[in-house]
Amino acid sequence: MQRITVAKGDGIGPEIMDATLSIIKAAGARIEIDEIEIGEKVYLAGNTSGIARESWDIIRRNKVFLKAPITTPQGGGYKSLNVTTRKFLGLYANIRPCVSLHPFVKTKHPQMDIVIVRENEEDLYAGIEHQQTDEVVQCLKLISRPGCEKIIRYAFEYAVRYGRRKVTCFTKDNIMKQTDGLFHQVFDEIAQEYPSIENEHWIIDIGAAKMADTPEAFDVIVMPNLYGDVLSDVAAQIAGSVGLAGSANIGEACAMFEAIHGSAPRRAGQNMANPSGLLQGAIQMLTHIGQADVAEKVQNAWLKTIEDGIHTYDIYKEGVSTQKVGTKEFAEAVINNLGQKPAQLKAVHYGNGSTLNLPKYVRKPAKKKELQGVDVFVHWNGEDAAQLAALVEQLNTPAAQLSMITNRGIKVYPDGFPETFCTDHWRCRFKPAEGEQLTKQDIIRLLQAADEKHIDVIKTENLYAFDGKPAFSLGQGQ
Ligand code: NAD
Repeated sequence: MQRITVAKGDGIGPEIMDATLSIIKAAGARIEIDEIEIGEKVYLAGNTSGIARESWDIIRRNKVFLKAPITTPQGGGYKSLNVTTRKFLGLYANIRPCVSLHPFVKTKHPQMDIVIVRENEEDLYAGIEHQQTDEVVQCLKLISRPGCEKIIRYAFEYAVRYGRRKVTCFTKDNIMKQTDGLFHQVFDEIAQEYPSIENEHWIIDIGAAKMADTPEAFDVIVMPNLYGDVLSDVAAQIAGSVGLAGSANIGEACAMFEAIHGSAPRRAGQNMANPSGLLQGAIQMLTHIGQADVAEKVQNAWLKTIEDGIHTYDIYKEGVSTQKVGTKEFAEAVINNLGQKPAQLKAVHYGNGSTLNLPKYVRKPAKKKELQGVDVFVHWNGEDAAQLAALVEQLNTPAAQLSMITNRGIKVYPDGFPETFCTDHWRCRFKPAEGEQLTKQDIIRLLQAADEKHIDVIKTENLYAFDGKPAFSLGQGQ
């Protein structure tokens, strides 16, 4: 018996949750439920996080959370509960299966059956943003080795567990050689550990185009957070089933399962909503807690119901559907089909109920780290990079000499092009002269001198080599 936390949410949430729970209980789910209140009522009662402290305690105790969609009230100050939950509970993996149900649900891709595995915690979603000059703001893209190892291993373990043949990685490492480069490198390393699973890497732009055009070429696709956010919606949409898709958010200790759609307030309380998205989330939950037998029974009964043409309004289609039903009637039809398999759609087989084998991250021995230079970012309102160079070259010492200036990454000094458009945000790269060493003390002196000369330094980035390999990007055009 597994204790789970359930939140019925807002809008259509309570109806689709009741339908989902009635189906999985009828199928023999071995669960006990603690219900918590989250969402609109909690927000409007003055709690800007949308969830009470005691509810966190219950979620953390039970470790498994089935969540219906919630309504985030309009207007400022309310924090997204989804983002908070993911971050607080360390739910690093977002798993979204996207399968077409042709010919019962309309799709351009009848053969599609892919699973998007999205890194869920880092990348640009760390939310570290700053305005640095009048004209320029930045958002830090953070990619970590543990973040990459955990998500990529998850993708391969998932492939092994569910009999999938291939894992594809999408990145843009031709441009982001450090961040996406690390993701790709870790993918190549971990792929070696799974010789029975095919692996490949695509540059995200052409990969995404291929996925939208020929999704049957892919199986499991793993990617960093932002790409995964965008492409998991594209994949669900082209499968024809945004309203039918569920997703799992998995962490080392806890996991949350949900539908991908929202609370559809206009449909609330009318026994109209399709409970399938949340049911798909619940099926992922059942496999996660080792009840694959129940998950398989529910999924096959659900496929049979779709195939029987028993459809809620959102997927009802004259000529394909046989009956237009409400939320409750749909749930009853699935319950009546428990124990049966679809005839035309592919029945699922989830095997012996084992959970995924995910070792804890082990930190690698530290590399030799060597300071090789410093990028000093300057807010300057001029236009001619040579003028700025003359200004900052006054700061030169043997340990730190101006070697280059870039503007938005493009080299503008020395040998810049007059055509290059420049903002007020300049990066001045300092490196030690031949035979000299740069220290942190030298950087402090450099900043002190810059301040005395009224040069407006907005930030610095140290340039390091790890085990002798420079680990920073060159200027574009350098
Ligand atoms: P939505 O997903 O609620 O609705 C989009 C459209 O799809 C609507 O036409 C709706 O009627 C239809 N729809 C959605 N789910 C359906 C279902 N199960 N059955 C039948 N039809 C369905 O998106 P929205 O209208 O942009 O957002 C409404 C609210 O939901 C907002 O407050 C938003 O913040 C919230 N939201 C919550 C989550 C979540 O909790 N995970 C996710 C997305 C949006």
